[in-house]
Amino acid sequence: TQYPTADETIITFRKEHLGKTLSLSYNKPLHIVRGEGVYLIDTLGKKYLDTVNNVNHVGHQNPKVVAAGQRQMSILNTNTRYLHEEIVAYANALLKKLPKEISVLHFVNSGSEANELALRMARTITGNTDMLAIEAGYHGNTTSVMEVSSYKFDGKGGAGKPADTHILPLPDPFRGRHTGEDGGVAYARYAKKAIEHLKVVDENIAGFIGESLVSCGGQIVPPKNYFKEVYKHVREAGGICIADEVQTGFGRMGKTFWAFELFDVIPDIVTMGKPAGNGHPLAIVACTQQMADAFANEMEYFNTFGGNPVSSAIGRSVLQCIEDDNLQQNAREVGSFLKAELKALQQQFPIIGDVRGEGLFLGFELNDTSKKPLAHHATYLANRMKDLGILMSTDGPDYNVLKIKPPIVFSLENAKELIFRLKTIFAEDFMLQYHQL
Ligand code: PMP
Repeated sequence: TQYPTADETIITFRKEHLGKTLSLSYNKPLHIVRGEGVYLIDTLGKKYLDTVNNVNHVGHQNPKVVAAGQRQMSILNTNTRYLHEEIVAYANALLKKLPKEISVLHFVNSGSEANELALRMARTITGNTDMLAIEAGYHGNTTSVMEVSSYKFDGKGGAGKPADTHILPLPDPFRGRHTGEDGGVAYARYAKKAIEHLKVVDENIAGFIGESLVSCGGQIVPPKNYFKEVYKHVREAGGICIADEVQTGFGRMGKTFWAFELFDVIPDIVTMGKPAGNGHPLAIVACTQQMADAFANEMEYFNTFGGNPVSSAIGRSVLQCIEDDNLQQNAREVGSFLKAELKALQQQFPIIGDVRGEGLFLGFELNDTSKKPLAHHATYLANRMKDLGILMSTDGPDYNVLKIKPPIVFSLENAKELIFRLKTIFAEDFMLQYHQL
C-alpha cells in the first residue's frame, strides 16, 4: 500500500475542511515548523531566508516579545473595562511615535477591523457614505473594507465596483499615465473630478482611504505632492483622510516611522496592524481629538479582545525592540544598500524594468523591452528562489512584481545573500531569453 506523506495528509484535509479558496504558497508548498529571526525552518531543518513576512517585524519568535506575551498571559488577560497599567503604557509609547495631532487610539485585532472602524468613523462623522480609494488597493476582508478594495472587487471572483466607491487611478510613475515632474498633481486631480461628479447629483464624500505606498498595487511609490493634493481636495469637500499603515508602518520605511510622513501630510485617521503585535493579532485605529470627539455619539465602541493586557504587553515590547535594536535605522541602511544593489542588477539584467520602494519595503518588476509584464517569469523567480532557500512573493495588477518586505532585523549579510541568489537565477536560461530582445 502507498501511504500518503504527512504533507499530503495536511493538503488533503485543508482541501476538504478549510475554506475552499484558501491558497498555499509555491507550487510545492512548504511545511514550516519554526521561526527564528529572519528565518523560517521546515520539517527537515532547512532554513529559508524570509523576505516576505512583514508581520514578524522584529524577527520571528523574537525572544523579548515572546517573553512579554508569556509573562502577561500567566498573570491576567481580560477586556479593557477594568483599570490596568499595561494599555496605558502601550498607548503612551505608541503615541510618542505619532505626530502630536494624532492623539486618540482605539485597539482592535486585525487590519480589516481597523479599517472597518476607520470607515465607520468617516461615515458617521460626515453623514456621507461615498469613499475615494486607490486602484489595486487592499484594505481587508470585511464587507465594508472589501468595498473600498479594488484589488478584490476588480479581481478574481469580484463583483465589481460598488456605487459609492470611487477609484482613483494607481499613481504609478513607471507604468501609469502621468510620469512627469507634476505627476503627483495630475494624479490627484482624479480625486477632485470624482468629488465634482458627486456634487452634480448632490452627493458628497465621507473621505479617502489609501496606503502611502501601495503594496498590492505592486509596491508603488506615488509621486511627490500626490497625497498633499489629494488631502487638499478631500478636505475642501469636508471629507476625512485615512492612511492605511497596516503594511508600511512601524519603522519599515527607514527614513520615517510612518509612510505618510515621507509625503509630509498628517492624516485624520491612521490604521495599523500586521507588525504591531509581531504575529499576535493586534491592530489600532489612531485619530485626532477632533475625529474622536465627533465619532463619540451615545453608541459605545467596545471590542472584546482589543487592547487586552497581553496584546498591550506584546505591542509595547515590539516598540521597545525597534527602539533598543535601532531597527528603523537598520531598515534605512539595509534598505538603501539593497535598493542600490537591485539597481545595479537592473543594469546587468534588463528584464528588471523598475526598482522602487523605501527602506525595507522594496519591489522590482519584470518586463520585456516593450514593457510587457512578465508574470510567468516572476512566478518562476519566486519558485527558484525558494529552491535556493529564499522566500519571495509576487504581486501587482500584472503579477510581475517581486516584493521585498522582510522582518526589519534583515541584515546587510542577508541582503548580500539575497542579491547573490538573484544573480544566479537571473543568469538561468528561462530568464536570459528576454535579455536578448
Ligand atoms: N490593509 C492592508 C494594506 C493590508 O495589506 C492588509 C492585509 N494584507 C489589511 C489591511 C488587512 O489586514 P488583516 O489581514 O490583518 O485583516
